[in-house]
Amino acid sequence: MGLLYTKLKIFHYQAKIDSLPQQSKDILPPVHIRIKPTNACGHNCWYCAYKADNLQLGKDMNKRDFIPKEKMAEILDDLVEMGVKAVTFSGGGDPLYYPYLLDAVKKLAQTPIKFASLTNGSRLQGEVAEIFAHRGTWLRISIDGWDDESYARYRNVKVGEFTKVMNNIESFKNLGGKCYLSISLIVDKENAGHVYEFIRRLKNMGVNSVKVSPCIVSNDGAVNNAYHQPIFDQVKESTRKAVADFSDGHFEIFDSYHALDDKFKKDYDWCPYLQILPVIGADLNIYPCQDKAYNLEDGLIGTIKNQRFKDFWFSDKNKFLKINPSVNCNHHCIANEKNKMVLEYLYADSEHLSFV
Ligand code: SF4
Repeated sequence: MGLLYTKLKIFHYQAKIDSLPQQSKDILPPVHIRIKPTNACGHNCWYCAYKADNLQLGKDMNKRDFIPKEKMAEILDDLVEMGVKAVTFSGGGDPLYYPYLLDAVKKLAQTPIKFASLTNGSRLQGEVAEIFAHRGTWLRISIDGWDDESYARYRNVKVGEFTKVMNNIESFKNLGGKCYLSISLIVDKENAGHVYEFIRRLKNMGVNSVKVSPCIVSNDGAVNNAYHQPIFDQVKESTRKAVADFSDGHFEIFDSYHALDDKFKKDYDWCPYLQILPVIGADLNIYPCQDKAYNLEDGLIGTIKNQRFKDFWFSDKNKFLKINPSVNCNHHCIANEKNKMVLEYLYADSEHLSFV
């Protein structure tokens, strides 16, 4: 198994990187698109960024929005025609609550586009599980609680939901296929002492990877760091020990639990990644990334309510450059480090490139 979470994947798409600056004139298709098919979800996680009032992400989300069946088919037709490489279904809500997800992934399975989904795992059953197992590239299930009682507290769901999700995970692995099943372990003060043992359990269940991530509690990096400071060393040590004891050629542990400053501070004035991995919302608006979705004030780059996605994408390049991260994005940004790498690549002095 190669590296699943490396930040360097984009460097396999050099033409795309070279097309990004305004002066190149070219607009190439996104490499990867996140589609939020629905904003409905049966879980109610206390930290859910789409529901928390103090986080800019999701501030304008309408939980009743979903992409109509015919519009989804039109979007997927466009992505095939454009040459988009990958689609990830994500929230807003849980993609497996979208009534037309099965139609969408059946359609994608007939195309060269790779597909994946984020989910809480509670509906990972039946035909949709079958098609993901055999045709999907990966699925990632977010988990926080470590047993029925804690899971019910985190998500405001009935006791027993955790057991159902664990059973779904085991059943999914028993379906066979090549789909990588990953777990996103969201760490906060309550579950910090369970990280090592839970990773052991997940490995024994046959999952392919675990991503250890901090629970985000504020738009402010310093506030997040202060929240995690009392548990920081404990989580880092548990993760380090888990990597040493459990990771091998079939099981990757990705430590994404770190001081958050490097995901908040930005000193660049345009965002490369919004041309690489944009978001189509359930409201049919186009957002630059998963960290600004449903923020109409400074996260909207356009809409496909009255036009096709391909027509939107290949029109006027200026729309990609109107978001100034140093002004508009002083909050969590999953792409910050990737943006900095791409910008450093693009700003290398052409007269000196050969002096590698
Ligand atoms: S800098 Fe980050 S938060 Fe801002 S638009 Fe780009 S990816 Fe999104």
